[in-house]
Amino acid sequence: MGPALHPERDLLLVVDPQPTFMALCPAELPVPGAEAVIPVINRILAGPIARAVVTQDWHHPQHLSFASQHPGRAPLEQVELPYGPQTLWPDHGVRATPGAAIHPALDQAKVVLVLRKGFRRTIDSYSAFRENDRATGTGLAEWLRAVGVRRLFIAGITRPYCVDWTAEDALAAGFETWLVEDACARLGPDALLAASRARLAAAGLRFTRADDLI
Ligand SMILES: [Zn+2]
Repeated sequence: MGPALHPERDLLLVVDPQPTFMALCPAELPVPGAEAVIPVINRILAGPIARAVVTQDWHHPQHLSFASQHPGRAPLEQVELPYGPQTLWPDHGVRATPGAAIHPALDQAKVVLVLRKGFRRTIDSYSAFRENDRATGTGLAEWLRAVGVRRLFIAGITRPYCVDWTAEDALAAGFETWLVEDACARLGPDALLAASRARLAAAGLRFTRADDLI
């Protein structure tokens, strides 16, 4: 039995449901199994939740999170950028490319805002709320407050990066925040995911499953 949903106070935040993170785009940043979250998210959207926001990774073609912009470096290595350590990735989410589109199978009927992030060439943005310099806001918290949202359910791609960073910042912004665990893709070793989950639980994150929202 999950939380009873309120049409205005509750919102589903869908992080980066984009082909660039799926097997559809093998030369970009495919996350194993990521496409499987789309039907789970659609099931939630077919239920009582009334509104959703979708984020899109929307990078400059020479974005500094791309290993291709750092000669001699490979994806998953870390570099030091002016704002601190940054993991390098294969080229992905390049603005206005097919891979950066919202996945065509996602049901957008309840999507009331599409937020593009990571569009500054020199700053990455995992979180939907704050860029990776931890200082540049995206405006999402203010927008959510303006439309009356108090509680967020987060799903999408991928833990423990964009999804977990978004959850952390949602809590910091004062929203009651739930992670829909079976509606999130996962990348990397179990230990890293478990450490992130424990840290977020200690910060007040709650966990639920799609069936509890339907
Ligand atoms: Zn990205």
